[in-house]
Amino acid sequence: MSENKPHHKPSPLKGRPNPKHGEAIRGEKNPMFGKHHSEETRRKIAEKRRGTHLAPEYRQKLSEIRRGEKNGNWKGGITLKIRGIRASLQVKKWRKDILERDNYRCRNCGSTEKLEVHHIIPIAELPGAAAMPMNGVTLCKQCHKETKSYLARKRESVSQQFIIQTIPHHWQEYSTIGNYATTDDGITVIFVSDMGSPDYEFLVALHELIEVKLTQKHGVAEEDITAFDKQHLDTNEPGYLKEAPYHKEHMAAETIERIVATLLGVEWNDYEEAINKKFEELEGK
Ligand SMILES: [Zn+2]
Ligand SMILES: [Zn+2]
Repeated sequence: MSENKPHHKPSPLKGRPNPKHGEAIRGEKNPMFGKHHSEETRRKIAEKRRGTHLAPEYRQKLSEIRRGEKNGNWKGGITLKIRGIRASLQVKKWRKDILERDNYRCRNCGSTEKLEVHHIIPIAELPGAAAMPMNGVTLCKQCHKETKSYLARKRESVSQQFIIQTIPHHWQEYSTIGNYATTDDGITVIFVSDMGSPDYEFLVALHELIEVKLTQKHGVAEEDITAFDKQHLDTNEPGYLKEAPYHKEHMAAETIERIVATLLGVEWNDYEEAINKKFEELEGK
């Protein structure tokens, strides 16, 4: 079931290349191999990528760009430029909104000079959050420079951070549907197997999240958990064993997991069956 380290059998899929991978696009098998798109096709592709939902001000910018393209000294690619403009106009408005929201004061020191708007999660890490109101904070130039993520293209963690990521089941480190590990700077990474159900994946993530927090809080070392699991490879759920160093935490996690499952309308038996199927999926291969 949703356990962090109970299933230590190495994944039989590990290192096996997917024979289908890459075949469709690369090399001579690609129908476009050795050919070039016509002007017309290229225009259509660009049109398709651009979508039809552009605001008038964006359209204006685009036509300016196109005019520029026809001028001699055009350098950049048009797609890149469009993306850049679309993003920058949005971010420009976002910047203004954040400054207004923060009453034109640095949220660290209160200064009203040389104000900048800081992306808490950098654009490079999460482009979709580039214009999210929650993701912006007004800082003066000095305070901005003092953030660890300034120009670093990665975020900083103040006290704790969790990264929850669904991955293909056969990418798990070993046969498990939930795995976690914590970096030296306190970032806990939780990998959840793709279960084909966001609700199931959420429940697995929730279980891991509670279990990792409680074991850390109670001083149970990750190495001890791993060591115990390795001594109980025959058991599907070492967390159920009373002598497991994380037994208490596992049971607490499951209690909460069950409550949330009920609230989500998830039938526990169906959920367990889906998990068992995931394990069989790998064992069968
Ligand atoms: Zn557990
Ligand atoms: Zn400041």
